[in-house]
Amino acid sequence: MSGTSEGPAPAADLDRGAVTESNNYASPGTEPLTTRTEPPAYHSVFTAAPLAMAVVDREGLVVGANDGFGALFGSPTGELTGRIAADLVDLASDARNWHAYCEMLRGREALLRCTRRLKHPDGQSVWVQVTVTPLGQDGCLLMSLSDISAHRELQGRLRHLEMHDPVTRLPNRTLFFERLTAALEAESYAESGTGRIGLCYLDLDGFKAVNDTLGHRVGDRLLAAVAERLTRCADEAGYARASAPLVARLGGDEFALLVEDSTGTEQVADLAESVLTAVQAPFDLAGQRVSVSASIGVVERRATDTTPTALMQAADTTLYWAKADGKARWTLFDPERNAHRMTRQALASTLRPAIERGEFVLEYQPLVGMEDGRLRGVEALVRWNHPQFGVLTPNRFIGLAEEDGSIVQLGRWVLRTACRQARQWQLDHPDEPPLFVSVNVAVRQVWDSDLVADVAETLAETGLAPHLLQLELTESAVMGSAGRPLQALQALSGMGVGIAIDDFGTGYSNLAYLSRLPVSVLKLDGSFVRGFQYEGDKEGAVAPNPADEVVVEAMIQLAHRLGLTVTAECVETSAQATRLRRIGCDTGQGWLYSRPVSPTRIAELLSAPLEARR
Ligand code: C2E
Ligand code: MG
Ligand code: MG
Repeated sequence: MSGTSEGPAPAADLDRGAVTESNNYASPGTEPLTTRTEPPAYHSVFTAAPLAMAVVDREGLVVGANDGFGALFGSPTGELTGRIAADLVDLASDARNWHAYCEMLRGREALLRCTRRLKHPDGQSVWVQVTVTPLGQDGCLLMSLSDISAHRELQGRLRHLEMHDPVTRLPNRTLFFERLTAALEAESYAESGTGRIGLCYLDLDGFKAVNDTLGHRVGDRLLAAVAERLTRCADEAGYARASAPLVARLGGDEFALLVEDSTGTEQVADLAESVLTAVQAPFDLAGQRVSVSASIGVVERRATDTTPTALMQAADTTLYWAKADGKARWTLFDPERNAHRMTRQALASTLRPAIERGEFVLEYQPLVGMEDGRLRGVEALVRWNHPQFGVLTPNRFIGLAEEDGSIVQLGRWVLRTACRQARQWQLDHPDEPPLFVSVNVAVRQVWDSDLVADVAETLAETGLAPHLLQLELTESAVMGSAGRPLQALQALSGMGVGIAIDDFGTGYSNLAYLSRLPVSVLKLDGSFVRGFQYEGDKEGAVAPNPADEVVVEAMIQLAHRLGLTVTAECVETSAQATRLRRIGCDTGQGWLYSRPVSPTRIAELLSAPLEARR
């Protein structure tokens, strides 16, 4: 029995928190309900009211209570008289409520309302809403308690529904994110834990097919069965640990397993492996045998280094990789692969505005006659002066531009700039034979734009003669061309524009077929020329690969018979040049002659020709 429970506690004591134990008092006896504060007319109303009420004096003691109040505490009302009211509802356990209550006892506060959980003597707990108001007489207060247990239970059930998925009964996305956020906070501050977090983000391969062919009912059953297996995996993983991973359904056929306090990549990878095996075993769904597999993105990192959004983004990317790498596998997050993807994304999203802002420039690489070493033409090669990443070579962005279609706009700019430049050199050097300009054209430009009209317009606008323009297309771009692309090639060739096959030899290399197309030049791929590492006059020379030479020679002869000229790419040494010349190659391009350079440098070369490298 505590000292404070024996007699009325002075209000000053309440303020010091002297009253802390609850429901631990001997009854000071049964006093009649009629109190000093209560006019007799209200007595019966007070007693019979269904709302539990008690009158509390300025010292904080119950001076009278009605039957409802007694029933809540499971004791005769008389026994409650003289008890410390605050203790009955454990008001001191919450600092704010306690302070407000003390203020009310001093007459400085007009209302206190809070929710408390009461332990009924029969073991059940009851949720009550506590309302304390001044009675206006002698500083007494009226404490009323309404039983809100049913309401709370309903609220709880609604919350459960809100937080769980009805099909699998697993926690849903909302609950998952709540737990993830809480886990990240806890892991960041907890000193005892590992401070790490792990996540397996899973998507079923082939779920859509099950849904489409066997119907949604079977689909739902499959999801529920998968959920069961995932939960089993999580339970096994959590065996002998403080807690099992949380399994949640994030939507559709996506699930997540959250490993709080993870010990490292290996632990999460082991979990992913067990999930993969578990999902792969066939399911028996009401007589239907169904097989699926899962793709899983695995992320494991320090909690302080991440946020829920960052973790989910990483998991999403990793899951995408798992799918792209062939499905039915787990893939671990790789920061380097991600950086590459981010750069790709950053580039892709800024391509179009960059064209408008004029961030692209052209360099020109000489195309040189093999016999006399004279500059015949140049290939226009595009570069991106990226404000953030510096000068980017085309292999970083041409593919992206093809994917999103901006190659059409970029290609038009390249065509116009190159033709204008070629015409300018011609005007500036009227005494030299004019240079032709060779412009790379992507497949999509032939398909998605009116290339013929663009070329005609550009030539008219710049005044460049059609035979001074050559278009480079890859073998695969012209192979099998029929209809529109073939008509385009024919129209261009008809205008007098040259058509070259770029990187020849890397594709089908079907010369007989190519000869039926309006093609005039073959650009022999650099890989052939590389086989010509012939340093004949040096010691320890590596002998040339005769097979390559024979093949290339035959190819050149055949090309000539079909009326095509041949340009060799990537000529880097004079030995290569010598051999290429010997087997009949017409033109060369490569570092031996010049790297791709600015238009001014080409102008200089026109004034003072390249030293003939023979
Ligand atoms: P490509 O048309 O085969 O261009 C030749 C590439 O080989 C150029 O690379 C050039 O710098 C490089 N090269 C030249 N000589 C040598 C050499 O002796 N050794 C070595 N190792 N390499 C040499 P670049 O400029 O990076 O261009 C790469 C590719 O990008 C081009 O290959 C072409 O397919 C594409 N490309 C460039 N500009 C454009 C353009 O305006 N439009 C389109 N659609 N594609 C373009
Ligand atoms: Mg080219
Ligand atoms: Mg090439």
